[in-house]
Amino acid sequence: MTDNLSTSDNDGVPEILLAPKTVRTENFVDMQEVVGKCDILFLCLDTLRYDAAISEQERGTTPVLNQFGTWEKRFAAGTFTYPAHHAMFAGFLPKPITARTITDGQPLFFPKSIGMGNLTPAGAFAFEEATFVEGLAKVGYQTNCIGGVAFFDKRSALGSVFPAMFQHSFWRPSFGCGVQESAVNQIDFIIKRLHQTPQETLVFYYVNICAIHYPNWFYDPNGRKNHDDLNSHKAALRHVDSELARLLTAFAQRRRTFVIATSDHGTCYGEDGFQFHGLPNDITNTVPYKHFFLEEAR
Ligand SMILES: [Zn+2]
Repeated sequence: MTDNLSTSDNDGVPEILLAPKTVRTENFVDMQEVVGKCDILFLCLDTLRYDAAISEQERGTTPVLNQFGTWEKRFAAGTFTYPAHHAMFAGFLPKPITARTITDGQPLFFPKSIGMGNLTPAGAFAFEEATFVEGLAKVGYQTNCIGGVAFFDKRSALGSVFPAMFQHSFWRPSFGCGVQESAVNQIDFIIKRLHQTPQETLVFYYVNICAIHYPNWFYDPNGRKNHDDLNSHKAALRHVDSELARLLTAFAQRRRTFVIATSDHGTCYGEDGFQFHGLPNDITNTVPYKHFFLEEAR
């Protein structure tokens, strides 16, 4: 059967969605200066709420993350891990809340084949593969996935979908959500692996930090057993921040590194009757976001 799909450039894409209107804000990043030159670290603080991140930022209790600028408020890519990560790995990172079309804001990664015409926006890394992860592999990156929540645990068919997008994927029981030292164990693992990786190898790491995801009650010394709340959520974030310095140092010791730090969705603790995530509301629909460079420090 003949494929009658149009091969025209625009393919029926509404004018307003073509040629994304990249505004060169102070956070503008030219991915041509990143891809092929820098290591890339995608740090997903799974489940981190925007309000919790801002609160700890303003109190100065996340000093490592605070070094790299303030959190930006963005629309979550989904209401729970699975849809959010399909979107993010396809290039649809959380959007600025000022965005009014899907093409507003600077796309760092641009999927050439989906719905926005063929015009790569300024500064974006365009890819033809199903995910930008595979796009980075095609241009020479070693791609690594460190789980994480069950969607990254490789213990089921569903938990293998995302890891399969990477050349190398890792999950250990000690990385799981129920382990209080999960972030410590994940970061120990990455640092060891980085030290075993030849200096000339360009690396991309996606890390699913799951400490903030439930259960997190054990991070709050004043909390109630088996009871997560916003206080324990924030305590988990502070714990994660206290572990990040050595991870960032390990990357900086290799070469200049571009870091994307964000969350996949928020989570509720009874607000408006909502519990946890997976349903749309203002709390699950917004996430903190920042990207920054780590300068080489060899
Ligand atoms: Zn998640």
